[in-house]
Amino acid sequence: MTGNADPLSALAGQEHAVKRLNAIAHDPPQSIVIEGGDADGRVALALYWAMRLNCEGGGEPCGRCPACRQIADLAFKDLLFFDGREGLIKVQSVRDERATWGQPPSGDGYRVTIFAEAQMFMTEAANALLKSLEEPRPGNVFVLCAPQRERLLETLVSRSWVVTLAWPDARVNDPAVTKWTEALAECWRSGRGWFQLTAAKGAVDRDLAMAVVIGMQRELREAMSGACATPLSARLAQSYDARGLRRIGLVLEQAQDALNTQIPVNPAMVLDWVATRMA
Ligand SMILES: [Zn+2]
Repeated sequence: MTGNADPLSALAGQEHAVKRLNAIAHDPPQSIVIEGGDADGRVALALYWAMRLNCEGGGEPCGRCPACRQIADLAFKDLLFFDGREGLIKVQSVRDERATWGQPPSGDGYRVTIFAEAQMFMTEAANALLKSLEEPRPGNVFVLCAPQRERLLETLVSRSWVVTLAWPDARVNDPAVTKWTEALAECWRSGRGWFQLTAAKGAVDRDLAMAVVIGMQRELREAMSGACATPLSARLAQSYDARGLRRIGLVLEQAQDALNTQIPVNPAMVLDWVATRMA
């Protein structure tokens, strides 16, 4: 991100979320949660917010003034950036800034503290942040970015204003993945077919399992948006309300986490776990 010519380029197609932030910029909430989209899009919107609150032009970010340029480089004096993309956000790093959050910002705008991939908080670190949110200091605002609000401490979310980015464009799944999503829809209907697939020796490795989970996420997004062109997306839309669909989203995120860890996992078992929670 640092040194990127235009860190806001990831906001293409996210005009709705940008508009929502602009509408509240005159009286910014102490904490906002940015969910949806992808990790780059979430960071881009968080940086947009920091620029919006500090641009020397006073309106939408000009991208050229010192404040905008320094924020783009993560080098602005009133910007704190915790990067969960690089690993767990540790409690000490949060405690170290508590004195800073007790002070007004050094410039004329707001001190913006961004937690990128805030689901990577250690619970203690989240609790330390919570203490700071409970003692609001004027001029300090916080941004928590995460794939889904459910992955954050409920007490943090309940204190925050939530903005949801549009999901990345739904492309059509690869036929190798479609075979699996259709098998799941069929098993859901008839109770047959899925477990023979995953039980076949060597049928699924970690890469394929990840591709299938991502393919399922794509169909879930279709179901959420009411576009149900595939057996699985149609099944999901019939079976779950919006809240239920969000819960399935969480299951798929957890499956991704399991496949991403260094701990040896059995990819077929991860897919079976998803199937039993979904269907
Ligand atoms: Zn500016």
